[in-house]
Amino acid sequence: MSDSKQGRGGTWEERWHPLREEWVIVAAHRQNRPWSGETVEQAEAQPPPYVSDCYLCPGNLRVSGARNPSYTGVFVFDNDHPCVGPHAPDALTTVTAPYRNRPARGLARVVCYTPRHDLSLAELAPHEVENLVAAWQAQYVDLGRRREINHVLAFENKGAVVGVSNPHPHGQIYATNFIFKTIEVEAAASRRYLNETGRVLFQEIIAAEQQDGRRIICENETAIAFLPYFARYAYEVFVAPKATRSSSAALNDAEARGLDTVLREVVIRSDNLWCMSFPYVMPLHQAPTDGGDYRSFHFHIEFHPPLRKPHLLKYLAGPEIGGGNFLSDTAPEEKAAELRAQSNVHYKLQPDA
Ligand SMILES: [Zn+2]
Ligand SMILES: [Zn+2]
Repeated sequence: MSDSKQGRGGTWEERWHPLREEWVIVAAHRQNRPWSGETVEQAEAQPPPYVSDCYLCPGNLRVSGARNPSYTGVFVFDNDHPCVGPHAPDALTTVTAPYRNRPARGLARVVCYTPRHDLSLAELAPHEVENLVAAWQAQYVDLGRRREINHVLAFENKGAVVGVSNPHPHGQIYATNFIFKTIEVEAAASRRYLNETGRVLFQEIIAAEQQDGRRIICENETAIAFLPYFARYAYEVFVAPKATRSSSAALNDAEARGLDTVLREVVIRSDNLWCMSFPYVMPLHQAPTDGGDYRSFHFHIEFHPPLRKPHLLKYLAGPEIGGGNFLSDTAPEEKAAELRAQSNVHYKLQPDA
């Protein structure tokens, strides 16, 4: 292929995977995005509260030339290296069936949780977690109502082992012209279950977890956290409102406060497990914003931690990558008991710390 066909900035488009029936985002223009290159060991050293060359710290200059404001709470900005964006090229290479491509349209944003470079979600005060949840709600509304946006995926990648290039506590939002595969599968399963039984699938999951009880991490009036019966990762945890709400934005204030509390407790207990910053991938699973009927979709937050033990990664290999099904070496009941046994006060804040 000629350079002109690929475009100056490298290939940037969505390509359809006809066998998996899902879109692949090809964002080869992002090869030069910043990477601070820390190792696991370095990342565990306590960082200072402000770093002059951190592109997320308040007042600092970013690669785009934009300067961060002197923000004091949650700060959201458009990603300087978006995988989907309004400026994604329209002119695509012509392909023939069964291949398909289309522009990588959407918006990618970064959500800074706090101006403090040295904290993590687990170390935020309750009102700061409340502000973060409020930001997720506002972003879902703002992005989801746009005609070209069919899904809003908010997530956090935490820790060098999941490829995070900056320890400053932050998450991301990919607002896309397609619905991410896992959401599509969950939405279809939920809709089918409602049609067949008249009940909400996720309500049945919560009821089953409550009936068994062994895998519940914590709960309050309006929210619950549990390590599901069907967990694929050792310390996989779901956090959800007890009432069926299709997105974070659909929570009322009491439900949001309940969720803040449970979410905060889960990340604190996870850090306390090995007295270390606990890495994870944390997506918010919210209903698509394509105008479909998602009454059966029950918003939840999922934690996918890659570690089985302090320095032991769960490698995705033959069964997972090769076959698409997980092989779990641990019993969810035992791992839930470990998390439940932890204090809900962060180890760094405990008196003998
Ligand atoms: Zn920073
Ligand atoms: Zn989910």
